[in-house]
Amino acid sequence: MTQDHHDRLDRARTAAGEAGIDALLITPGAALRYLTGYDALPLERLTCLIVPSHGPVSLVVPALEEPAARASVPEGLTVTAWPETDDPVDVVAAQLRGVRRVGLDDEMWAEKVLRFRAAMPAAEQTLAGPVLSRLRVRKSGAEIDALRAAGAAIDRVHARMGEWLRAGRTEAEVARDIAAAIVAEGHRQVDFVIVASGPNSASPHHDSGERVIEAGDAVVVDIGGTIEAGYCSDETRTYAVGEPSAEFRDAYAVLQRAQQAAVRRVGPGVTSGAIDAAARDALTDAGLGEYFIHRTGHGIGVETHEEPYIMPGSAEPVEPGMAFSIEPGFYVPGRHGARIEDIVVVTEAGVELLNHRPRELQVLPVR
Ligand code: ZN
Ligand code: ZN
Repeated sequence: MTQDHHDRLDRARTAAGEAGIDALLITPGAALRYLTGYDALPLERLTCLIVPSHGPVSLVVPALEEPAARASVPEGLTVTAWPETDDPVDVVAAQLRGVRRVGLDDEMWAEKVLRFRAAMPAAEQTLAGPVLSRLRVRKSGAEIDALRAAGAAIDRVHARMGEWLRAGRTEAEVARDIAAAIVAEGHRQVDFVIVASGPNSASPHHDSGERVIEAGDAVVVDIGGTIEAGYCSDETRTYAVGEPSAEFRDAYAVLQRAQQAAVRRVGPGVTSGAIDAAARDALTDAGLGEYFIHRTGHGIGVETHEEPYIMPGSAEPVEPGMAFSIEPGFYVPGRHGARIEDIVVVTEAGVELLNHRPRELQVLPVR
């Protein structure tokens, strides 16, 4: 996606200028991956992309990282390698003489923030994140293709759940098998595996543990990874191992309607708050509102969680090209819980789902 990266750097430069920022300073993390494709490790040695509102973009890297950086960044980008004994903050500051306002990467280490402040005492420091999120939030066709591929890859993992999920195994054992499948089905890395069984399903971000799965358990399986193109997947399905309680089935049926209502509400110009309300109202009307304890969704791209956030009361309208999750759930402490999560993209006409596994409760054989 090299042409995409050149476009992104151009748009970042323009957006910085419009925000009154003379230069963005981007260190390893999601913003650097988004702007250049370079997946650099955050280290004590400084790697810093300089995006001035006027003038050429350049990347300052430690000499020993130079070959890796050159292999990753868009062709034509200036790469300056700093020798081991130089002070890289001075190397960057020398390129930024006279700047009055710099936008620092949201993920920049505090130690580097303070060194930049000392090296450029006249430059006001602000965050680069708000400038970049306006670009990142609307995906290009190539980005949506990548998210579609990620969605298909994680669908293939959920399709195989019956191979691993059964009574008598621990959550951790099942999670290990799922992690291997996330890679086998087309991701370059596993980002998270939540296997939350029985009463643990009432904890939305349960850490898969040593609990042995029992017949009749509800099991929330929320999994995701990153594909080679750098884009993330994130999909939740709730399974039952053998027949669950009637109370659980009834609540699950409400959840399924709530999730569908929110997906159907998505379209250009609809506010995030209205999408959230579509799910929340359906659960509240059935007496389950108090058990829906999180927002309805989050944006996804080069990070699993990014803007936009689908929150109660948000007046932000969604726009074509935005990609985010729709993932209502209910969590009854000590008893059970469930969540259904799909990634959707806003289109000119409405909405496209990027996950396609069945949303009805999947009852798996006990053994
Ligand atoms: Zn998830
Ligand atoms: Zn999610």
